[in-house]
Amino acid sequence: MISALLDLIRSARHCVAFTGAGVSALSGLPCFRDGGGTGGSLRESGDPAAVPPEIAAELRDLVRGFFGPGDDPPWEELFSLDFFEREAAAFYEKAGSFIYHDKEPSLVHRALAGLENRGLVGVVITQNIDMLHQKAGSRRVIELHGAPRIHYCPRCAGIRLGYQEAAAAVRAGTMPFCPQCGRPLKPAITLYGESLPLEARREAEGEAQAADLMLVLGTSLTVRPAADLPRTVLRRGGGLVIVNRQETPLDKNAVLRFWDLETVFAGLENSLSQGAAGSGGFKNRASGQR
Ligand SMILES: [Zn+2]
Repeated sequence: MISALLDLIRSARHCVAFTGAGVSALSGLPCFRDGGGTGGSLRESGDPAAVPPEIAAELRDLVRGFFGPGDDPPWEELFSLDFFEREAAAFYEKAGSFIYHDKEPSLVHRALAGLENRGLVGVVITQNIDMLHQKAGSRRVIELHGAPRIHYCPRCAGIRLGYQEAAAAVRAGTMPFCPQCGRPLKPAITLYGESLPLEARREAEGEAQAADLMLVLGTSLTVRPAADLPRTVLRRGGGLVIVNRQETPLDKNAVLRFWDLETVFAGLENSLSQGAAGSGGFKNRASGQR
């Protein structure tokens, strides 16, 4: 099965990876918009049956690891624009350890960076906000839900604060403030009640249209509009490989279907390192595919 996957990746003209909560979870992080709270996902998809209870339960466990016992406020409320606007201090206090984490890239993050280096993966589209793909060495990353790389003032144009400065404030028990108007700065992540960053969404859609292979990794494809990207690939005649612990609505459309991310990527790494010693480890890609 792993060799079949490697063959698919090697023969693809433009292979795109699409990552979600499951990939962050390998690093010990929950993903706040991919079933992290049931309510938000239900609102997004409009389909109450769309979030399997085991996903919600599993991610809630992860979330509790971060926020302690209890559910106050619920995950999806904590990560809503409404809550941030009302209670920025509580937002930073409760969500701070998640946003300003000290986690390291997982095997999957590193393997994807390796595949990009080998010219086998063109871009990573992620629903995660943890910036771990970049930390692992991926160069082309589209962040569909933004990232706390910058913090901005909702009122004052041109105010920008970086991750480290904001993280320092939050770790010191406070939060970043606008030097002009004194309001709390907001991290550039997409909260419930906000739409996805337009530029990222457009770029991701373009990649999905150009892809003849998409690796769907650690996402249950329940949160729209992100979950529409694999459907775009299918519509354009491309193939899907799905690796996820839970079922997805597109399982029956996948060329290959795996369940365990670490097993698959350990196998891929292994095959690639063996192949690299021979002749077939690297593939020269035509440039200018973008
Ligand atoms: Zn301001």
